[in-house]
Amino acid sequence: MASSDWGYDDHNGPEQWGKLYPIANGNNQSPIDIKTSETKRDTSLKPISVSYNPATAKEIINVGHSFHVSFEDNDNRSVLRGGPLSESYRLSQFHFHWGRTNDYGSEHTVDGVKYSGELHIVHWNSAKYSSFAEAASQADGLAIIGVLMKVDKANPRLQKVLDALNAVKTKGKRAPFTNFDPSTLLPSSLDYWTYFGSLTHPPLYESVIWIICKESIGISPEQLAQFRSLLSNVEGDKAVPIQHNNRPPQPLKGRIVKASF
Ligand SMILES: [Zn+2]
Repeated sequence: MASSDWGYDDHNGPEQWGKLYPIANGNNQSPIDIKTSETKRDTSLKPISVSYNPATAKEIINVGHSFHVSFEDNDNRSVLRGGPLSESYRLSQFHFHWGRTNDYGSEHTVDGVKYSGELHIVHWNSAKYSSFAEAASQADGLAIIGVLMKVDKANPRLQKVLDALNAVKTKGKRAPFTNFDPSTLLPSSLDYWTYFGSLTHPPLYESVIWIICKESIGISPEQLAQFRSLLSNVEGDKAVPIQHNNRPPQPLKGRIVKASF
């Protein structure tokens, strides 16, 4: 397995990542199963405050194992503050995780329950670091909002993203994606769990303050199928759909999950 071709299949998937990325077996890996009876309510946790400027939306990119919607992050026009954070964190990109079938696909689980997908909105600590790349490996470098996705009727708020997938069908393709505020994808309640963890795929840096929303959002079976129709191959090669891209829950290893509610 070369570092460039990790994936989610048996030969290059989560069980193999530790060979090239020993931190895969570290003490602060993500995702986790959130056992609600073991979470600790922390009354000192502040509400989450998101302030996203739709004009910072930039591009949609097929990265081979998923797709990203990226944002201009050269200033503080789009930021996440509050919650467990002591600094302001700048919006970088959002992406999704999904499974082969609708009965799994989320990375975090709640009391063992798997959801059908998960949205990750990724931010970096712009108060301390000068770029996403610099922040990504630092213990206080990243803050990611995770939103669980549950099968329901079609979610119209996802439509603009889904419509854009046709333009980035194969790996490496990118297309402009402008005028979008990802806070429209958040659930109505911003109650959350928070814990310290990692990126959920290589390089698996233990650099993430996770903020997982208690409330899920909906997605239809047809919308999930659109995620799975995206291709992991480059244009011209044999079509290989991205059928699944979720890492299973990792050991908690004594960490405490705090609840804002
Ligand atoms: Zn993710």
